[in-house]
Amino acid sequence: MKVARKNVVLLGATGSIGANTLRVLRKHQNKLKLIAVTAHSNDQKLADICQEFKVPYATLTDSSAYKRAKAEGRFPSETQLFGGNDALIEISTLEEADIIVLGVVGACGLKPALAAIDMGKEIALANKELLVLGGSFVIDAAKRSGSRLLPTDSEHNAIFQCLEGHCNEDVEKLILTASGGQFRDAPIQKLDSVTPADATQHPNWSMGQKITVDSATMANKGLELFEAHWLFNLEPSRLEVVLHPQSIAHSFVQFVDGSILGQFTPPSMTFAIQHCLLYPHRSASVEPTLDFKQSMQWDFRAPDLARYPCLKLAYESLYTGGNALAIYNASNEIAVERFLNGSINYLDIPRIIDWCLSNDTNSVATSVEALIEIDALTRKLANAFKSSSV
Ligand code: NAD
Ligand code: MG
Repeated sequence: MKVARKNVVLLGATGSIGANTLRVLRKHQNKLKLIAVTAHSNDQKLADICQEFKVPYATLTDSSAYKRAKAEGRFPSETQLFGGNDALIEISTLEEADIIVLGVVGACGLKPALAAIDMGKEIALANKELLVLGGSFVIDAAKRSGSRLLPTDSEHNAIFQCLEGHCNEDVEKLILTASGGQFRDAPIQKLDSVTPADATQHPNWSMGQKITVDSATMANKGLELFEAHWLFNLEPSRLEVVLHPQSIAHSFVQFVDGSILGQFTPPSMTFAIQHCLLYPHRSASVEPTLDFKQSMQWDFRAPDLARYPCLKLAYESLYTGGNALAIYNASNEIAVERFLNGSINYLDIPRIIDWCLSNDTNSVATSVEALIEIDALTRKLANAFKSSSV
C-alpha cells in the first residue's frame, strides 16, 4: 500500500532523541521528510543537520547562538533561520507539519506542544516534562482537537503497543521496567560520595546527561509513572515498577485474566521513535533486533525503595496529585543541575525534592500559566536549599 510521506518537525535535533530521530529519517527518506529542526545553542551542529537534510526551517532558541549563526552565515541559503523561544511555537504550528517530535529537554516544550495539539497535529512524545507538568491540560487539548499523542519514551511506547486492540477495563496493571541505573548494585552507604562523572555513565542506554542522572536515582521512573498515569488513565495503585538490568523488556501490560504482554528490542531509542513516526505502519528497523539464536539472560526484581528514595517520593506525589507532580519535576531538575555543578551531593537530590514537596499547600493549578508559576517558584525554592554535606 502506498502511504503518504509525513512532514516531520524535530524539536531538540542536536540532542540524544534528536540524533536517534535523524537515524530513522535517514533510513526512511521515502516516507518521512524533515521540514523543521531546533536546538538551543549548538548552531554548528544544527547547521550541519540543515545541510544534510535540506531543511527549510530552523530555530536556535539561545539568542546569542542565533545572532552568531546569522552573523557568520553558518546556515545553508535554503534554510530560513529563526531565533528565541517563541519561534518554537511558530515551527511547531507550520501548516505543512504532520508530526512534531518533542525531543527537547525540560519545560520549554510545553507551549509549542500545546499549540501543535490545538491544531490537531500528531505528537511523538519523548519529552517527559510535557505530561508531568501539563498533564490534564495536554490530555484535554488532545481530546478536543483529535491530536494523536504517540508515546515515544520506550516504556510507554511498549505499553502503547501492548494495549492496541484492548480496552481499559481489561487492564489489571501496567508494569514499567527500569534498568536501576549505574548504582543498582553499589553499597547504599557509598551513594553519598558518588560524583557527577560516575552518575552520567549509563550501563545500557546512551542518553543526555540529565536523564542519565535521573536513571541512577530512578527519578526518571518516577516521571515515567506520572506520564503513564496521564497517557493511560490509570490510578497509581495500578502502576508498578520492576528492575530489569538488561533493558530489553521495555514494559508489560497485565490483563485481568492474568495474561501479561510485553514488548522487546535491544536498548536503542530508534525502535520506539520509528514506531511513532511511521505509525500505524511498520517498516524495517534501523538496527538489528534481538536474535534468539544467541543465548541471553533476562532478570527481573522488585526495586528497593531505600536505595531509590526518588521513586518512593514519586509514588507519594502521584497519590497526592494536584501540584505535586509539577513540584517533583521542577525540584528534581534543579537538584540534578546543582549536583552536576557540584553544589550539592548525590543524596541531596531526594532531600531537595522532599523539602519542596513538603512546602506544597496541596492546591491544584487551574491553568497552564498557574502551573508555570508553580514550576518557577519551586525552582527558586530548590535553589535555596542548603546542603549540609558539601
Ligand atoms: P539532550 O540533552 O541530549 O538534548 C536536549 C535537546 O533539547 C537539545 O537539542 C538541546 O539543544 C535542546 N534544548 C535544551 N535546552 C533547551 C531550551 N532551554 N530551549 C530549547 N531547546 C533546548 O536530551 P535527550 O536525552 O535527547 O532528552 C530529551 C527529552 O526526551 C527529555 O525530556 C528526556 O527525558 C526524554 N527522553 C529521552 C530519552 C533518551 O534516550 N535520550 C529517552 C526517553 C525520553
Ligand atoms: Mg524511558
